[in-house]
Amino acid sequence: MTTIIDGAQIAADIRHRLQQRLKALVCVTGKRPCLATITVGKRPSSVSYVRRQRAVCSSVDVDFEEISLPEHTRQEELVAEISRLNGEARISGILLQLPLPEHLDQRTAQSYILPHKDVEGVHPMNIGALVSDDRPPVTAPCTALAVMECLRWTKVELSGKEIVIVGHSAIVGKPVLLMLLASATAAPTPTICHIATRHLERHVKRADVLIVAAGRPGLITGSMVKDGVVVIDVGINRVSESGHPEGGKIVGDVCFDEVAVRASHITPVPGGVGVVTCMMLMRNTINLFALQHHQAVER
Ligand code: NAD
Repeated sequence: MTTIIDGAQIAADIRHRLQQRLKALVCVTGKRPCLATITVGKRPSSVSYVRRQRAVCSSVDVDFEEISLPEHTRQEELVAEISRLNGEARISGILLQLPLPEHLDQRTAQSYILPHKDVEGVHPMNIGALVSDDRPPVTAPCTALAVMECLRWTKVELSGKEIVIVGHSAIVGKPVLLMLLASATAAPTPTICHIATRHLERHVKRADVLIVAAGRPGLITGSMVKDGVVVIDVGINRVSESGHPEGGKIVGDVCFDEVAVRASHITPVPGGVGVVTCMMLMRNTINLFALQHHQAVER
């Protein structure tokens, strides 16, 4: 029997906990958290992400503010806007919507977001805390946190297991690797694969737990995995026979039907990691709010 890892259920449980926690925090501080999103220009993907962020904020009672800058914004103007938000006590977290127009430097802009307002957990200081701390940081990349929540939900013991991660990006593969290694004594044994990995299938075949974040639909087929594997599919790919960017359907990186019959647990796409990621954005926002008001954070 394969268990489908129900992202919507996990997200609903987390939402409930966050709502309770936020009520208590609002009571103690007399204030509410606010997430500020900066968009530069108007990309259709950003418009739909921002709509989703607004909805998820409203679902947990977090205020939301969109700062919409024109396409031709210069780097120093973007930095000035970030600095203004850094200085506003009412703003708990700042999110810079990507991709930016080509003339802007994403890394430099992101590095101006202060670590205690870094709601995406991408500031070098917050990433550094993942490497060096013996306890989870206040904020961390939301998708990596969502992968860990999905794994936790399965209640599968990870200690000593072979975990294969496909994809080594800064927002998924690398932070997941660090999170998996966080326990000094009960960590699993992770392997990280990427575009230059030779014989991907040999690594994948060894996996007790397989985490895939490559952005390649159909990358993992049924014959590549071993029986009983736990599969977390992070990929979100729009596939369309007509080639139209808005048409077609959303699929992951894993051939769901073939792999599901062999897996013990598997996340669907959509309805898996993605919905949990939205809640992790809320957890990061509320943690930053708590930190800014000298209250306990949830790790
Ligand atoms: P990225 O492009 O930054 O990184 C892709 C990674 O996959 C790289 O490490 C690359 O080397 C590896 N890769 C690519 N092709 C490969 C192949 N054929 N074999 C082995 N490795 C290969 O991507 P990202 O931002 O980490 O996103 C990855 C996927 O996850 C995308 O589909 C993206 O849409 C999705 N995503 C989902 C969420 C969510 O909330 N579920 C969040 C972020 C990203």
